Amino acid sequence: MFKAMMRGEDMLSLWLILFVAAGIIGGVVSGFFKARRIQPNGFKWKIFRNEAIIAVITLAISGKLLGLLNGWLKAHGWISINNAPAAWWQIAFEYVLYFFLFDTYFYWLHRWMHKEPIYSWVHKLHHKSTSPNLLTTLSVNPLESFINGGFMSLFLLVFPIHAAAAVLILPTNAIMGPYVHSGYEFLPRWWNRSWATKWFISATFHDQHHRYFTGNFGGYTTIWDRLCGTMRPKFEADFDKVKQRSSKNIALSETASAGTPQYLSL
Ligand SMILES: [Zn+2]
Ligand SMILES: [Zn+2]
Repeated sequence: MFKAMMRGEDMLSLWLILFVAAGIIGGVVSGFFKARRIQPNGFKWKIFRNEAIIAVITLAISGKLLGLLNGWLKAHGWISINNAPAAWWQIAFEYVLYFFLFDTYFYWLHRWMHKEPIYSWVHKLHHKSTSPNLLTTLSVNPLESFINGGFMSLFLLVFPIHAAAAVLILPTNAIMGPYVHSGYEFLPRWWNRSWATKWFISATFHDQHHRYFTGNFGGYTTIWDRLCGTMRPKFEADFDKVKQRSSKNIALSETASAGTPQYLSL
């Protein structure tokens, strides 16, 4: 049977099916991402290359410094992780506490870093990218990376969290940075209209911070920006525009794929 399947015409049919399937899947995937791109023409290879170089240097320097600091604090008994069993609500409390305290720390330091001369000396490097991508997350001055990463050490100094809470916090840190710099908006259209969700940051929120340099300083939430009046006034209207564009593109791609069989029958 295997031999029969390997006949020339079967191989050709299989190849054609795979070719068409790959084309359709590729079209759908690229259409999916294209439709959600916040700044459709913003990507520049030169900036991406520079970001890659800065990211490697920053990771090496701040990773080393944070490792030395945490090692020293741990060796002298200043910080520790609590390995005792904990109830679910204790873990949830520690996670929520970390989440909102880090957001507060990030907001105020970030706002301060936009003042001269600290902006030119430290934070400007991160703003070389006016249309962020995943690498922009790591493209920061080593000092800024050390300050942001150092929050965990400060937190542990006053609050030795349970290991289970740390397991939740670390992925949150690892996901939020790349997510807000992704350059794509995946959240639903109602995100800023719902009282329950509008307090949490979106990729468009931070993308606008890179595009316009002022406002939208929050790292995890929009709370401090809303309270202090630093949220870009047009943020929600622009978020709607991105979502409208994505739904228009989806409608167009559906129309295009409806025409595919006609093309194949030619
Ligand atoms: Zn900034
Ligand atoms: Zn950024």
